Amino acid sequence: MLIAGNWKMFKGAHEARRFAAQVRHLPERMPGIEIVVCPPYTSLVATLEGLGEQSEIRVYAQNVHGELEGAYTGEVSPPMLLELGVKGAVVGHSERRQHFGETDEMVRRRAEGALEAGLAVIACVGETEAEREQGRTNEVLERQVSVLPRHDRLVIAYEPVWAIGTGRNATPEIAQEAHAFVKSLHPTRVLYGGSVKPENARVLLAQPDVDGALVGGASLDAQSFEEICAAGVEAAAAA
Ligand code: PEP
Repeated sequence: MLIAGNWKMFKGAHEARRFAAQVRHLPERMPGIEIVVCPPYTSLVATLEGLGEQSEIRVYAQNVHGELEGAYTGEVSPPMLLELGVKGAVVGHSERRQHFGETDEMVRRRAEGALEAGLAVIACVGETEAEREQGRTNEVLERQVSVLPRHDRLVIAYEPVWAIGTGRNATPEIAQEAHAFVKSLHPTRVLYGGSVKPENARVLLAQPDVDGALVGGASLDAQSFEEICAAGVEAAAAA
């Protein structure tokens, strides 16, 4: 069971350091789950410092370039992240696809480069509301998943775009069906993402093919992040 918090473009260095110091001991109270936080690039070092060397919380970036170095202004490479102590990266988040034009091919290259360099990867897939209404969910998932490398350090996050930041989480049945489909294409752990909150985490994480959560808004608050982690502990114990 993996619970990852995506801080999006929130928490500058000062706040990130304070938050990290507040949650650094969380894993000691959460047996059976892995906890990851994904701060913005400029808060990575502060987060690592706030967590300290003993904390079992791992720090991932929210994106990463596929090349080791080069003329790619504004991008950050896998070795640059590894040098800081960052252990992984999210790729293909729907906000990257929607607002920054990231394509399946770019997501593939980012995932491959990160894995080759030694990072773990959370690769995001998911359909838009229009695609679901048109009955194209499986076609979209198949297209997005088919480009992802098979690797034991890669997990997939199923994040229906209509559920991200909207307060409209997928029903447990929708999540279960999509996760089972993704796993039929790519045998790996699959996290659910999209308006996960303390109130709905238990039932979502209890689904047999839901192996964790990628949490946006609700991961910004230490109390709600802890409650979601606790729901993960319960689900892991019941599995
Ligand atoms: C996300 O950022 O990946 C996400 C799922 O956001 P939220 O939990 O806020 O919907």
